[in-house]
Amino acid sequence: MFENKKIFILGMARSGYEAAKLLSKHNNKILINDGSDKQDESHIEELRKLGVSIVLGEHPDDILDESYDYIIKNPGIKDNHKYIEFAKKHGIKVINEMEMAYHFLPDDTKIIGITGTNGKTTTTTLIYEILKKANKSVHLAGNIGYPFSSFIEKMKKGDYIVTEVSIQQLLNLDDFKTNISVLTNLSEAHIDHVGSYENYINLKKKIFAHHTKSDIAIINANNSDVMKITKDINSTKIYFSSTKNDTDAKIENDAIYYKNEKIIDLSDIKLVGMHNYENIMCAVAATKELGISNDAIKEVLTTFTGVEHRLEFVKRINGRDFYNDSKATNNKSTQIALSAFNNPTILLLGGLDRGQSFEDLYEYMKNVKSIVTFGQTKERIKEFADKHNIDCTVVENLEEATNLAYNLSEEDDIILLSPACASWDQYKRFEDRGEEFKKLVNEIEEGAK
Ligand code: ADP
Repeated sequence: MFENKKIFILGMARSGYEAAKLLSKHNNKILINDGSDKQDESHIEELRKLGVSIVLGEHPDDILDESYDYIIKNPGIKDNHKYIEFAKKHGIKVINEMEMAYHFLPDDTKIIGITGTNGKTTTTTLIYEILKKANKSVHLAGNIGYPFSSFIEKMKKGDYIVTEVSIQQLLNLDDFKTNISVLTNLSEAHIDHVGSYENYINLKKKIFAHHTKSDIAIINANNSDVMKITKDINSTKIYFSSTKNDTDAKIENDAIYYKNEKIIDLSDIKLVGMHNYENIMCAVAATKELGISNDAIKEVLTTFTGVEHRLEFVKRINGRDFYNDSKATNNKSTQIALSAFNNPTILLLGGLDRGQSFEDLYEYMKNVKSIVTFGQTKERIKEFADKHNIDCTVVENLEEATNLAYNLSEEDDIILLSPACASWDQYKRFEDRGEEFKKLVNEIEEGAK
């Protein structure tokens, strides 16, 4: 399919580079274009040596013509880009790197694809870790892993690929088919790329494309939109639910069960929060269907402390548990984090001021004994806390906030960084804020208090 073709790769970065490298080994004529000229110099040099034409820093009008067979589009590039419009008009097929590389996979590769509005990264990571623990030859692909094209040549028969599939990726998939698809949940979000919520949920349905009865769909029985769009799919359906007791994966007697077999007590699981138990049920369902032992599943669930910056357990110091939830950049995420704990909590809150209200956090504050606030929103958070008689101290930065939180804490308290605000007032990225928090926590001296 991709031999002796003329291929235009739109968007370089890592996946464009890997795609070009793979395709150049199959006698294709390749042009790679990116609006930014800030690309890895060694990658540019390597591709030039392979005969790939490279145009960086602009999108000239005259580099694309009807002679191209395919455009391989980076998922970050909008559908109304002039080259994509041109391709649509002239019948040039637009796909993405995942779709292209899919055609190079050994026949018996087992693909597990995870999509949904929330929980994709956590569920993907859990499934990957469990398969690794069971000594399977497994590749992590997609957003948090590597482009498919980067490991195609290393693949052996029967290997597993675990991949998160974003809505942008689903847009340009065509023949791509998984063996197991997980749809964690659906809610109104991220529709800017696709116009409407209806388009969004219909696109999400593509994760089950080309399925037959021998493929598996893992479905959230509590989510009405998920139930609606999976009604007529051909897959073998496996249901999970955090509240019902007639689903394949369920919670009963404070434990997770799969097809009526007890897998693990909730108290033995390191991750916290009902949302994470849902992600875990997805991972249990996927791996049990692949025949993985309970031992491998349990080993991961009893040790995995979370994907970095997502309600990630950092450390226990003198009976206080520190959690880094720096990815929580809005109220909704902080609500989810607060719902995960029953212990008294000291909450580190604040960051970039977008004029947002904090009022809808109040309902979730019943265990919060103190707020320590920092960043641009600190004065408004103080007003919110005073209004509701919640103890609140204003400080300048995360260092002061972390140290004060520890000083205010007592044994069995939770100290939670879940800022409900973006980090850009004081940091470049939420990851930097989370890193700093972890560093500060690790500097706290165990004995001193
Ligand atoms: P995604 O990759 O879909 O963005 P992540 O696993 O990175 O999801 O989690 C990001 C945030 O989404 C978490 O910090 C949490 O606030 C929320 N979240 C995670 N899993 C779920 C879930 N199953 N249901 C609802 N919200 C969730």
